[in-house]
Amino acid sequence: MEILIVEEGGFCFGVRRALEMAHDAIARERLTATLGPLIHNPQVVEQLRRQGVRVVEDIAQLDPGDTVILRTHGCSPDVHDQAQKRGVTVLDATCPFVTRAQREAQRLSDEGWQVLILGEPEHPEARSITEHTGGRAVIVEGPQDLQDLKLTDRVAVVCQTTQRIGDLNALVVALLSHARNLTVSNTICDATTQRQEASLALAGQVDVMIVIGGYHSANTTRLAQICSEVNSRTYHIERAHELQHQWIAGADRIGITAGASTPESAISDVYNALKQIAGEKPPS
Ligand code: SF4
Repeated sequence: MEILIVEEGGFCFGVRRALEMAHDAIARERLTATLGPLIHNPQVVEQLRRQGVRVVEDIAQLDPGDTVILRTHGCSPDVHDQAQKRGVTVLDATCPFVTRAQREAQRLSDEGWQVLILGEPEHPEARSITEHTGGRAVIVEGPQDLQDLKLTDRVAVVCQTTQRIGDLNALVVALLSHARNLTVSNTICDATTQRQEASLALAGQVDVMIVIGGYHSANTTRLAQICSEVNSRTYHIERAHELQHQWIAGADRIGITAGASTPESAISDVYNALKQIAGEKPPS
């Protein structure tokens, strides 16, 4: 059995940076908490908890002198003020690509554009981008949401960084018949696009596709969605022990991809488990 792993899988730049900041602060005994889970991977969050770093949902849950790290998804601009008033130190691990999306939305909103954010309404990143427009921007999931909106003559589109380029195209085409002036800020991050394209290509060449990553991770869920469009034998798992023998019955080629917040160890665990299922000795 041949097992192929997407090269672009595993931690992306933003996640690696956030974890380095967290580990650096832990080493200096500075870190108390993360505001929301640092990344959407329960195993990594649990590891941080064992190192004494808890997850809080609100600055009010912290004490003066505490240090909190802001996650890659970013947060409301008010958080910095709240922390300062409470005497809490902030380490900002917002991914620079998310910051770019927040700034674009803010700029366009300040210039009087009606800002639409292509994203998931409940996702913290999409919400943080909206909060940077003072709540004026509206999150849409695609053209189907346009009918409920009263669109103006000046519409701007900004994207949650993990969106698909094809979905952005579809939204733009739909908007062209509504808005006389349309501006598009493609804030989808390159790491996301490359990972999606490489995963899609591999999914089309293998019998079974395994997508590894947190069930709450937007980019992993989207990867699974994309792969299942070309390969009906696509399975999304968080850990190796979830693999089921019947999934790979009769398969000659298996593909593996992983979300941006999936550790290398989770990928190699799945690889070794697949080798074992196939009756092959995993590499030492
Ligand atoms: S997927 Fe892109 S935007 Fe999100 S954390 Fe990684 S590098 Fe940053």
